[in-house]
Amino acid sequence: MSINNSYQVDLSELEGRKLTCIEGCGLCCLCQPELLEQEVPYFRKNYPNRIVAKRQPHKHFALSMKKKVGSCSFLNDRRCDVYSVRPHFCRQFPFHIHVGTRVQVELDLSCRGVWLDKGEDCVTLGTQLVAENDRAIKQVFAQSGDVYRQYYRNCMDMECDCRPQELRDEMAPRLGMFNDLNFIAALLEASAEEEELDLQTLKVPEMDARKLKELEDAAIEAARDSLGTADPFDAPIYCAEDNAWNIFRFEDESIERYVLTDEGDLDHISSIEPEAIKLQAPVDSGKNIMESYMALLNRRDSLLGNAFHLMDEYAYEDYMSNIYYGVMATSALDVLWRASLLSNVYGNRLDGKGIREGIIYYDMDRLDAPTIGSFI
Ligand code: SF4
Ligand code: SF4
Repeated sequence: MSINNSYQVDLSELEGRKLTCIEGCGLCCLCQPELLEQEVPYFRKNYPNRIVAKRQPHKHFALSMKKKVGSCSFLNDRRCDVYSVRPHFCRQFPFHIHVGTRVQVELDLSCRGVWLDKGEDCVTLGTQLVAENDRAIKQVFAQSGDVYRQYYRNCMDMECDCRPQELRDEMAPRLGMFNDLNFIAALLEASAEEEELDLQTLKVPEMDARKLKELEDAAIEAARDSLGTADPFDAPIYCAEDNAWNIFRFEDESIERYVLTDEGDLDHISSIEPEAIKLQAPVDSGKNIMESYMALLNRRDSLLGNAFHLMDEYAYEDYMSNIYYGVMATSALDVLWRASLLSNVYGNRLDGKGIREGIIYYDMDRLDAPTIGSFI
């Protein structure tokens, strides 16, 4: 953790990570890049037909997409036509700067380029990024401080016990237990109870067939929420090892698999029955990767901010421990269900590679969850 005169910076999520952009991937070019105010004149002058005015979530200009829904219109043969002048939004990926009570640089693990263990050092890149964004961070920091102060005031007014560091510390020695479906089921169940969830006294019974079915149903329901978008183009994209942009979308009672083409069309590939996806636990080196990922989530400020957001949504009537541990358990279940879905499609196990693919599919959505605090 480093401290400048105005804010603390946490780069721990980047430690030991390197970044190499993979040729032919293009995943980050499927999000419509927003233009900073100072970038608009260049694109307006040189590419007047390639910028669009947007009203949501605030008024801004962005680059146009192919057929309004595919990749960025500057992506050709999976290469950027304006690489040297690409917007700040593109240069920043896969880093996300979360501004809360401190500044934390979070790394989007949906980017395959951070799993190769070669390339540029992520701590160095994150340090540069914070320095480049210093002005914007200072502006947002003042506002996010107010949001957090209000949140803690609300907790006090409603007499809620809110000690997030204690929750993280309690969780830390138990992260390996997320490799056990019994633990995830017990945690989810206890988090939904009216009593305060206490990890030290949590009982983890062996599940019978009925309980396992309930857990699978809960996983399917959660997946239905995230993959059941009204528009297929809004569904999460899984960029596979062969760089195919896969979309799995819940439609009525089945999961439809599509591939988004470079031209911005959807090719239908197959239908999958949700019941055919057997929820699996990590095996072999998958256990280490799962535990490391849960450790990372347990340190991520945006995840904690997501729990705070839910606390606010539930009008401070629930226990913070139930909400926080519930978010951790739901995240673990979602990763394992997505890894199990990919295992059904590609025929692999949930070993190191299988769990990595589940995280690649999931992490972008994890970072997209509502949070108090802001991303810049
Ligand atoms: S997602 Fe990562 S690897 Fe893929 S194009 Fe973007 S930066 Fe490169
Ligand atoms: S401007 Fe270039 S890097 Fe940015 S989204 Fe478009 S193609 Fe990708």
